[in-house]
Amino acid sequence: MSPADTSLPAAPPAVVGAFIAGAPQPPGPVRLPVVYPATAAQVSELAESDAAEVDRAVTAARAVFDAGDWPRMGVAARQRMLMACHDIVLAHSGELAHLECLNLGVSLAELKTRHMHRAAYNFRFFAEVIGQTAGEVYDQTDGYRSIVVREPVGVAALIAPWNAPTALASMKVAAALAFGNTAVLKPSEQTPLALARFVELLHEAGLPPGVLNLVNGRGPVTGAALVAHAGVDLISFTGGTETGRAIMAEAGRRLKPCTMELGGKSANIVFASADYDRALDAALASIFSNNGQQCLAGSRILVEKPIADRFIADFLARAQRIRIGDPMAPGTELGPLASAAHRDRVLRYADVARGEGLEILTGGGAPAGLPDPLAGGFFVEPTVALATSNAARVCQEEIFGPFATFLAFDGYEDAIAKANGTDFGLVSYLWSDHLPTVERAVRDLRSGVVWVNTTMTRELRAPFGGYKDSGVGREGGAACRDFYTEPKTVTIPAMPITPRRFGAG
Ligand code: NAD
Repeated sequence: MSPADTSLPAAPPAVVGAFIAGAPQPPGPVRLPVVYPATAAQVSELAESDAAEVDRAVTAARAVFDAGDWPRMGVAARQRMLMACHDIVLAHSGELAHLECLNLGVSLAELKTRHMHRAAYNFRFFAEVIGQTAGEVYDQTDGYRSIVVREPVGVAALIAPWNAPTALASMKVAAALAFGNTAVLKPSEQTPLALARFVELLHEAGLPPGVLNLVNGRGPVTGAALVAHAGVDLISFTGGTETGRAIMAEAGRRLKPCTMELGGKSANIVFASADYDRALDAALASIFSNNGQQCLAGSRILVEKPIADRFIADFLARAQRIRIGDPMAPGTELGPLASAAHRDRVLRYADVARGEGLEILTGGGAPAGLPDPLAGGFFVEPTVALATSNAARVCQEEIFGPFATFLAFDGYEDAIAKANGTDFGLVSYLWSDHLPTVERAVRDLRSGVVWVNTTMTRELRAPFGGYKDSGVGREGGAACRDFYTEPKTVTIPAMPITPRRFGAG
């Protein structure tokens, strides 16, 4: 039985710094504001980790990996620890959600019930995976048996984005630790609050010092020092495609394996044969969930011509009724974007679209009439653009906000050409009740995931990741086993062998 959530809303700490070898670190002199996006009020301060602090974090992880218990621990003991992590995260899901909301602005209800429950579940999931993961035996070569054992790789650098900080970072932490690695986690500099408490909580649950270490700071400072550190053996990164390119280039210099979960511009393809009402609900949910800030957002909605006018009109009517406002208030459907700079970037895409001659069907600005103090927040109206060509920038570039682009298509071939006509390939959504169309499209779509007649449904056992510029490698049960372990082949003859006798005459 999991404990009930008894946690209270937490006041954020005045300063968030690093946590190394089981202890919070004295905050350094370089400080960055941590801001509540719904009001623009500063709620905390981040103390940035410099290269020296990153070095201390890697050294702590290295020491446990090279000589400590964690990588050498039996599976049952590690499972018990992972389950204790599950329990404590679940028990504090309300507190964690509150902290996350304070620097992200996604609705509190969504953070608590989806993000934090998922964060807890990640530990339970990987505890179960390691209980079922076994080596391999090859005995086809006469007189020999070769066994393949899996060993942890080493010190993992885990670099996380701001859009779902704890849900995404906890997957990396749980997977890396479950397979016996040690780790240094670097959250996004915009969203350090919940993850700092999360790391503390795992230690309260009994995680030994040095197994998981936390550094905080900007990508080019703290992140770059972590990626370049010779004591890091592997890198798991989730974030933007250009950042991923830079990290992988640096990692290549030292041959560090990487997984890259990157951006998307996912097609949501609605055939005339779709269940219309469900497809409409799902189209809205796929772009407006998480305030539109999702790598897997269905941001390019491709609708078959016979139903396009009606579908777009119905979508617009619903988009205009979305309840925008306080992310802490029950019933809010769309909160603010995570930062002022990101809000400005998203709004610029409305100008980009207009500049290319596209029509903005609704939105494209800040919502009017929000009461103080929300009037100062980073809100963007649900925005819908109508494109006539897939070459439009709003069809090609990741906007990462509550911004949907519609494009009508004419038959199957046109749908697939448009869906695949992007540098990205993270997920595709497919709506049709015509089985041959579904079967054919599942084969033809160039993306790492195809969701058929459903919104986002993450199957953790299955690989998740992108084709093309959306990523390299996968996360998921077996995929994480492959990434976070080194296979070691041990070959033993059944009977004493007679080697060739060099020099024996
Ligand atoms: P980002 O690339 O700006 O930053 C991600 C992380 O990388 C942050 O922690 C940042 O500090 C760090 N970073 C930046 N530069 C670095 C450098 N040179 N060296 C090391 N670390 C560095 O991304 P973001 O704006 O935080 O997140 C949004 C992006 O993440 C979107 O493109 C979104 O699609 C993507 N994303 C992908 C997935 C997925 O599973 N594919 C999931 C969520 C988000």
